[in-house]
Amino acid sequence: TSQVTTTRDNTPLLPNVKNIIAIASGKGGVGKSTTASNLAVALANSGAKVGLIDADISGPSVPTMFNVEAEQPAVKQENGKNLIIPIEQYGVKLMSIGFLTPSDSAVVWRGPMASSALKQFIGDVEWGALDYLLIDLPPGTSDIHLTMVQTIPVTGAVIVTTPQKVALADATKGLSMFRQAQINVPILGVVENMAYFTPEELPNNKYYLFGKEGGRRLAEKFEVPFLGEIPIVQSIRESGDSGFPAVMKAGITEKAFSELAESVAR
Ligand code: ADP
Repeated sequence: TSQVTTTRDNTPLLPNVKNIIAIASGKGGVGKSTTASNLAVALANSGAKVGLIDADISGPSVPTMFNVEAEQPAVKQENGKNLIIPIEQYGVKLMSIGFLTPSDSAVVWRGPMASSALKQFIGDVEWGALDYLLIDLPPGTSDIHLTMVQTIPVTGAVIVTTPQKVALADATKGLSMFRQAQINVPILGVVENMAYFTPEELPNNKYYLFGKEGGRRLAEKFEVPFLGEIPIVQSIRESGDSGFPAVMKAGITEKAFSELAESVAR
């Protein structure tokens, strides 16, 4: 195969990373980056060593979600090679295209450029020893997905979807892609985000704004684990925008994301 799991000098890539987990979605805006960020922090809170690559080239949101928008990674020389030092926040080592481009500029990435950026994030960043390296993929299917599986041995993929029909249709394509022969990445399971809304004044009511249990049915159809549902909560959006992942605050969302981390760690 064309698997490139070594560097030019034949040392294996990421030899000290135990699990590489891709976070994928069919559609944009379903909460893939929110899930990736909270999952990363939840895993770190459980004592694991965690890294997160933001490979969502056209819409990198990790710098905002971790409140490190102004940070620029340092570079050091090692054995004649430049190594990028990841930004560390909330116990998670981070690398994002957002650190390398001005946040308000529209960077148009051709497929090969985006792919070489991901390769750089894998091969030229000092990740060190990690229990989990999460990769926040762009929505849909792209060159990046192919580059990822050709560059590193991906342990498994988590699919994030909302319960509505249009999101599920795209999530189905995403799921099928991971199962294709040339990709062949195990599906760790499906996360149903924005599963329901419960108003504060009506704590026993659940409103299924985007439809009910679509993610659960998707998991059943493909015979993969259902990893759980995350409700629509204003504080999840607020904490994403303010750079403090929701899992850091005690409450219903902390529980949902911690349980997700437990299922992924299993
Ligand atoms: P994607 O990575 O799939 O494009 P994001 O994670 O960036 O999606 O989420 C899109 C928007 O929806 C963000 O503003 C985020 O804060 C918000 N969001 C995601 N999940 C939830 C949720 N469960 N409750 C409330 N807001 C959410």
